[in-house]
Amino acid sequence: MPGTLGSPLPERCPTASRPGLELVVTYEAGATQEDQQAQQFLQTNEVLEGVAAHANSRIALPHDIPLTGRSCGEVNAFWDPKTQSITLCYELISQFAPVFSAQNTTGTEAQQTRATEDDLIGFTNSSVLHELGHGLIDVYGLATTGKEEDAADQLATLLLVGDSLHREYAVSAIDAWGALAAADQQGDISGKFSDEHSLSAQRFYNEICWLYGSDPSSFQGVVQTAENPDGVLPETRAARCPAEFEQMNDAWSTLLQSYLKS
Ligand SMILES: [Zn+2]
Repeated sequence: MPGTLGSPLPERCPTASRPGLELVVTYEAGATQEDQQAQQFLQTNEVLEGVAAHANSRIALPHDIPLTGRSCGEVNAFWDPKTQSITLCYELISQFAPVFSAQNTTGTEAQQTRATEDDLIGFTNSSVLHELGHGLIDVYGLATTGKEEDAADQLATLLLVGDSLHREYAVSAIDAWGALAAADQQGDISGKFSDEHSLSAQRFYNEICWLYGSDPSSFQGVVQTAENPDGVLPETRAARCPAEFEQMNDAWSTLLQSYLKS
């Protein structure tokens, strides 16, 4: 019997065993030189293949769902309900490469480059799994109350917390939300209050809270206390995070119980 989505996994995930009914990866040719570099980065590191294999090992789909890397003319990743497909835009990679590069400034140049690439891979995993959340709600007609955008962030986190590699990916996504939140603070964000997404700062704190809540003893260092003033998660929120994680894990695992493979 499969466990819940957010349960710890064996360190080696089982490979997908069922042909069909899976995320199916395609890379289209990038339209610009920048996009071609992003395409090459994703293909060389088998990034979309990796996230597809991870999702396919956990969740059965009712039909094959294309996961396509391509030039979009905008910075985005999205679920398209008409074509029942997930798109990861190459522009997302180009946009976030300098964001992560600015955060990875220690070690040798090669180490900094590798850390930036790891962050890009992690953020891409999180983005694709978020879109898979929208896709699952659509293809299985799952009930949602509250923001679907938050539910999609929850699914992405649940699929990332089960093993050490993917937990690192969750941390990269948190770093990205932190950078976007810092950028928001420099400008006028009043136009974002009506958006269906939670603010970047809220997504930053939510995802830290859920990661901490999934395993408080391993992530104690993120909690801000008198003894740990550099912690980023206020103690008042941290106290609620284990229950918050358990609630969303129960909810998503119940919604997907007929479709969980592991
Ligand atoms: Zn979304």
